Amino acid sequence: MTETLHDSQWIELDAAALRKNLAVFRRVLGSGVQLAAVVKANAYGHGLAEVAPLVATCADWLAVHSANEARSLRALRVDLPVLVMGFVTPSDLEGLDSRTHVFASTLETLSWVGECRRRCGVSLPVHLKVETGTNRQGLRLEDLSRACRVAAEEGVKIVGAATHFANIEDTLEHEFAQRQLEEFRNAVGLLSKETGGPLQHVHAACSAAALLFREADFTMVRVGISAYGHWPSRETQLSWILEHGRNGLGLTPVLSWKTRVGQIKRVPEGETVGYGRTWRALRPTVLAVLPVGYADGYPRSLGNRARVLVGGVPAPVVGRVCMNITLVDVTDVPGVSVGDEVVLLGSTGDACISAEELGSLSGSINYEILARLSPLIPRRVVNTSP
Ligand SMILES: *Cc1c(COP(=O)(O)O)cnc(C)c1O
Repeated sequence: MTETLHDSQWIELDAAALRKNLAVFRRVLGSGVQLAAVVKANAYGHGLAEVAPLVATCADWLAVHSANEARSLRALRVDLPVLVMGFVTPSDLEGLDSRTHVFASTLETLSWVGECRRRCGVSLPVHLKVETGTNRQGLRLEDLSRACRVAAEEGVKIVGAATHFANIEDTLEHEFAQRQLEEFRNAVGLLSKETGGPLQHVHAACSAAALLFREADFTMVRVGISAYGHWPSRETQLSWILEHGRNGLGLTPVLSWKTRVGQIKRVPEGETVGYGRTWRALRPTVLAVLPVGYADGYPRSLGNRARVLVGGVPAPVVGRVCMNITLVDVTDVPGVSVGDEVVLLGSTGDACISAEELGSLSGSINYEILARLSPLIPRRVVNTSP
């Protein structure tokens, strides 16, 4: 073993893969369409501090959920324009700079942005979030004129319009998305009239839409999961293949999660393993004890379900996943010893444990597996030479 043993677990981020995935979007997008890389939720669990400087060299914008995340980006000396897409309180807005644009989904937000301008002297550009059928955030079409009046009274600049699709990842039928697009086009037309000119920033697409619908490009797309090398869903991948007759996109997962064998444990035939005694050794068994658990983001529901890679060989997780400990059966893996590297998420040669596999085994999706990875796990950026 050439590597030092100082981390019991770590996350590796493939810088070249991240650049390549963003280049995939440059290739599929219409010319002149801006690319916003979504780095909310600690860059989908990858690590904001590591990911932000990398994507800042290949995206036009960064998009986050909260005002705090926007401040973190500035603290990391990222000076791209930033889009704050989520709910903000009046005090959240203090200390943001005028290259930080905020979504407004309510009239209150417009007043708060006005108040912030009067108090702090910073005029935050606003993108109105338009309700087109997701019924989560957003102003309905009939409320847009009023929003423009409130913005004018408050001295707030509306520079953009945005919406978000409700049903694009979960289906091969895209007529609801098309309806949302039509509603959005109407809203954009209306807003352009109200604000006296075409809006500078108009955007609707997440990864799935950016991959599948050129008509959802407008001036910008907001790409999250696929920048990190993942298809948003099986359905999106199938839709792509049906359209293009092949799976030639070349998205490459950026993240691998690794740990080490902390201890080898021999269990006699017939004995049970772990909390609740949910697994019984049907033969003399060799277990590897891994110093990782649900507190790190390895879901408890993966107990007796998932596999890890030990020396490139799949080894099943046995018994319950604990807060900081997971047990795997390495009886069939030759020559395992303490300190050996174990892949929880990622590949060794041809063998691969994907976020999609862990998502589906735990009754969830790749997004949740990634987003819940503990920010405390050390991150290492690899493959950095351009
Ligand atoms: C998270 C998010 C996105 C990115 O979605 P992906 O499916 O990860 O590409 C885009 N827009 C909004 C409003 C979001 O909240």
